[in-house]
Amino acid sequence: MAALPVFRWRLAPDGYATRRQLRARGLRPGGQPVAATLERPRRRRPPLVAHLYRVDLAMPVRPMTPGRWRAHAAMMRARRTCPSCRHDAGYVIPASLGKCVPCAYPNEQRAA
Ligand SMILES: [Zn+2]
Repeated sequence: MAALPVFRWRLAPDGYATRRQLRARGLRPGGQPVAATLERPRRRRPPLVAHLYRVDLAMPVRPMTPGRWRAHAAMMRARRTCPSCRHDAGYVIPASLGKCVPCAYPNEQRAA
């Protein structure tokens, strides 16, 4: 693993931004690797680490098109669909259960 430059909190040089800072400027990392990290020391805990990207390598956010919204809706529908009973549970199936709650606990009494 290559050593990344580590900057102290608030001491990052110009030209670097976090993912959220890029987003605020209508940019995205665009596949570039993390260019540097920021560390904020914390008392008796490991430092808070922020990943920085290079602004000059960032790419514009791709606008949502009808096709992208359709794809997003299909993805969310798939996440709500229980693989056991194939029903849309109305919520994202928890990875810890892998199925909807009634399928995961078939013997539990149904709440009124
Ligand atoms: Zn189910």
